[in-house]
Amino acid sequence: MRLDDEQESQNIEDRRGFRVSKGVAGGGIGGIAIILIALFLGVDPSAILQNNSQVNVEPEPSAESQRVGRDEGREFVARVLGSTERTWGEIFQRAGRTYTQPKLVLFTGQVQSACGFAQAAAGPFYCGNDQKVYLDLSFFRELHERFQAPGDFAQAYVIAHEVGHHVQNSLGIMEKVQSRQSRAGEREAKALSVRLELQADCLAGIWASFANRERKILEPGDVEEGLNAASQIGDDMIQKRAQGYVVPEGFTHGSAEQRVSWFRRGIQTGDLKQCDTFARGVS
Ligand SMILES: [Zn+2]
Repeated sequence: MRLDDEQESQNIEDRRGFRVSKGVAGGGIGGIAIILIALFLGVDPSAILQNNSQVNVEPEPSAESQRVGRDEGREFVARVLGSTERTWGEIFQRAGRTYTQPKLVLFTGQVQSACGFAQAAAGPFYCGNDQKVYLDLSFFRELHERFQAPGDFAQAYVIAHEVGHHVQNSLGIMEKVQSRQSRAGEREAKALSVRLELQADCLAGIWASFANRERKILEPGDVEEGLNAASQIGDDMIQKRAQGYVVPEGFTHGSAEQRVSWFRRGIQTGDLKQCDTFARGVS
């Protein structure tokens, strides 16, 4: 990826090294459940977050002072986020709307969001209540090692996917889906979640297409890297790795094939209208 022309976002909230301790332990999820859920990248926060009162956050000064020299991880995230801000800002403007930029919180280990308390093991996520993306940079190592999805564009895709959820929130899509889900049965509610996830993949593709058209961010191999990541974090692949078999009813994000296909559609067309994963007959 070539990020030289991308401005660093000013919306990074650095909470790395902050110790979050919970005063109340009730309502938690057992260790096994957390690990299983952790396998579902960026799962709907309400499913994983434990709402607890009394959360204490203390900065650990040692962690801050240990960081010397260039902070490449943060810089990369800031440039990718900055790139999405520019792209979505332009797209919204053309549509006569104003894009409100999301914040991106960097954290280590665990974090408190307006959607509840979350462990890094659950993967990056977007919280609509505070309009923030939450990311522990160690996830990128995980993406490389456990999900076999190396490369900077694979990482950028993950950020762009979460920003895609913010776009859905800004456009009122998220709210509409949630209200439909509250009236739907379990099966339909899950199917709607999958469509929401696939749309976020498509929107990530729209960003890549736009930024590349205007500022040539993609280098040879990047698209393949991103598509590989989309495939590796497809639900069927995750399930196969975790339990050795595939249960389509358990899908929360869509299959590898679906994720690749929607991400590709976004990249190739750069056309928002192509991202209607809720249209009839679309699967
Ligand atoms: Zn998602």
